[in-house]
This record gives sequence, C-alpha cells and structure tokens, in this order.
Amino acid sequence: MKSKETFNAKEINNKQIKSSLENLLKQPIGFIYSKTSQQTPKKNINKTEAIKKLYTNFENCTKCPLAKQGRNKIVFGEGNHDADLMFVGEGPGRDEDKQGIPFIGRAGKLLTKIIESMQLTRDQVYITNVVKCRPPNNRNPLPIESETCKKLLLLKEIEIINPKIICTLGAIATKALLGEDIRISKARGVFSIFKGITLMPTYHPAYLLRNPSAKKIVWEDMKLIMNNLKNNSI
Ligand code: URA
Repeated sequence: MKSKETFNAKEINNKQIKSSLENLLKQPIGFIYSKTSQQTPKKNINKTEAIKKLYTNFENCTKCPLAKQGRNKIVFGEGNHDADLMFVGEGPGRDEDKQGIPFIGRAGKLLTKIIESMQLTRDQVYITNVVKCRPPNNRNPLPIESETCKKLLLLKEIEIINPKIICTLGAIATKALLGEDIRISKARGVFSIFKGITLMPTYHPAYLLRNPSAKKIVWEDMKLIMNNLKNNSI
C-alpha cells in the first residue's frame, strides 16, 4: 500500500501541474516558444564578478585594429547585471570614448528617454555595444573589428547577463547577431531567437535624430518588448 507521504506528494504535484497548465493557458501565443527556448541560467553564477573579470581581462585589449586608431577609453557595457532587457548598439562615439560610458552623447540621451518611456531606468537595463572602442570619425566598424569584439566580449556579456530580451539598435548590431543579410527596415519589430534569447531589432537612436518621424515606429517596437517582458515575467 502507498504511504500517506507518497500520496500527499502526488497531490501537491497534481496541484502544481494544474496551476502550471492554468498559467500556460493565460499566456499569449508564442509564449511557449520564447519561454522554453530561454537560456538556462547558470547556477550560482555571480554575474557581477563574472562581468568584472571579463572586462578586467580586456582592459588593455589590442586584439583588433581599433586599439591603435586613437581610442581614448574602452567603453564596456553598463547597467544592471540582472537586467531582463539588454540594448546592443554599434560602438562608442566621441562622448562615450571620452568618458568610457556607453550611450551618453546625443543618441545616448535619446536612448535614455526611450528607456524612461518604457517606465524603466538605465540602472534597470544593460547597455552595451558590438565594438567597445571608437572607430575613427565614427565610421562603421570593419568586419574584423565587429567579429573580434563580438567573439571576445559581446557574446560573453550576453551569456553572463542572460537577459530575457536583447534589443539590437540599428543595422550594425542587428547584423552582428542575426547575420549580414538582414535589412533593418524589415527586421525591426520582429522577435526572433538568438542563442535561446528573444531578440528584437529596432532603429538606432542616431537614426532617429536624423529621422524624427521614425520615433513612432521605435515606440511601437518598444511596446512589443514591454508586453513580452510583462507576459513572460512569471
Ligand atoms: N552609438 C552607439 O552605437 N553606441 C554608443 O555607445 C553611442 C552611440
């Protein structure tokens, strides 16, 4: 005969299964895909320590040509190491290179406004770039620069932070993660999965400074991200 303890354990399991199924039924279409394909968080990983160690390893990085092209400071990622949302930009500009902080120039101020419109603060998200050193005259990073920095830093930042959503800002960041053949005008506003993490591209804030009418489109993209974060936060 089964012991009472075994029976109770079974009953608890059945209750858990019932409530999980009820929760599942409340979720929007697409939930199962994005949820089950989420990267499994590494157990006991101290994200702050891991990020610190990663950046320390590259504090004098000379792995790509940008190291010798007049960089002032290496601009590593910044923000909450437990962030659900990570923004990935292209690379530091003049202000970022001066101060060593990502997205603090004009485009950065606009990004901060976008984040605040999402009822978040910069401290609650994680902000980083494909390349961590300023390309001269703000030119696009060369493939060798993007690929090197992506492999040595960006992919590791993503693995450590393990956000629920990555938002790539502009064509360069989107191509770095989704492949060279994407077009930002087609890819924006569409969720896909990158290494088990939900990814949404949108326009770069610098593009919005030149084309303010595209702000509406970016806001639509941000609303999709906010909804996704809300629906997957159980
Ligand atoms: N543009 C970017 O892509 N990144 C920054 O940090 C600043 C401007």
